[in-house]
Amino acid sequence: MKKWAILWIALLLLVGCEAKESEKDVIYVVTTTGQIADLVEHVGGEHVRVEALMGPGVDPHLYKATQGDIQKLSQADIIFYNGLHLEGKLEKIFSNMSKTKKVVAVSKGIPKEKLIDVGGAHDPHIWFDLDLWSYAVRTVRDELGELDPKHKQQYNERAEAYESQLMQLKEETKKEMSAIPKKQRVLITAHDAFHYFGRAYDIEVLGLQGLSTDAEYGLKDIQELVHFIVERNIQAVFVESSVSKKAIEAVVEGAKQRGHHVSIGGELFSDALGKKGTEEGTFIGMYRHNVKTIARALKGE
Ligand SMILES: [Zn+2]
Repeated sequence: MKKWAILWIALLLLVGCEAKESEKDVIYVVTTTGQIADLVEHVGGEHVRVEALMGPGVDPHLYKATQGDIQKLSQADIIFYNGLHLEGKLEKIFSNMSKTKKVVAVSKGIPKEKLIDVGGAHDPHIWFDLDLWSYAVRTVRDELGELDPKHKQQYNERAEAYESQLMQLKEETKKEMSAIPKKQRVLITAHDAFHYFGRAYDIEVLGLQGLSTDAEYGLKDIQELVHFIVERNIQAVFVESSVSKKAIEAVVEGAKQRGHHVSIGGELFSDALGKKGTEEGTFIGMYRHNVKTIARALKGE
C-alpha cells in the first residue's frame, strides 16, 4: 500500500474516533411530533440531538412507523411521545421498545382532572393549553436530568427559561383573544384539536371530525355544521395544515347554497409544526401564527 493511502486511512480512523468521542456526551432523542422535538431542544440545548419522526403536514393520529423510523427508535437513548392516544398506530411499538429503553409520554405528569374528557376519551391536544404544556416541559426536564445527571442543573435552568417564554405567550394570546367581540369568538376547524385552546381563552370550539382524524364524518355532520354557521352568522372557518381541506370546503359550499357567505379564515397548525426555518417551524412561532390568523379572521379584518 502506498504511503499516502496509509496516512489517509489513519486520518479517517482518527476523525471517526473523535466524532464518536464527542457524540458520547450527547443524548440522542427521538420524538413523534415536531412540537415535542422543539420542546426537547429547548430544554436539552447542546446536550441533546433531537429527531422528530413526523414532519410538517403529517397527521399523528394516522401515522404509521416506517422501517427507517424503527431504526431511529431503536438507536435512540430516549423516546418522547405525546400519549393520550395521539399516536394511536405507534402504541404497540412503544410498548415493545419500553422493555429496553426509556419511552416517555410527555403528558404523563398532567393531573387527570386538568384533561378534557370527550366521549369517554382524554383529548390529546395538550400543547394548546400552555399550562398543560408546561407540565410536559417539566417531564422532559426530569427525564433528561435522570439520564444525564451531570447536566441536570442546565436542564433545570433551560426548562425554567422556556416555561417563562410559554407564560409570556399565554398572556399575549389572552390579550389577542379577548379583543375579539364575545359573540364572534367561535372557532370552527376540520377536526377537534382546539378544545384546550378554547378553554384557555374562552372561545367556543367546533370541529367537523372528532378528536382523532381517524373518525369518519358524514353528510349529516356537514349539514349540522352548515346549519350552525348559518344560524349563528359565522363569518370564517379554518383549515388545518395536517388535515385534508375537502371537508371544510364542503362546509363553505353548503353554507353558500343556503345563501350565507362564510370564508376560509386561513390555515392553522393543529397537530404538526410548519417547515423548519420558517416562523411556524417552531412551537412558539406556530402558536403565534394561529393566534394572529384566528384574531384577524374572527374580527373580520
Ligand atoms: Zn388531532
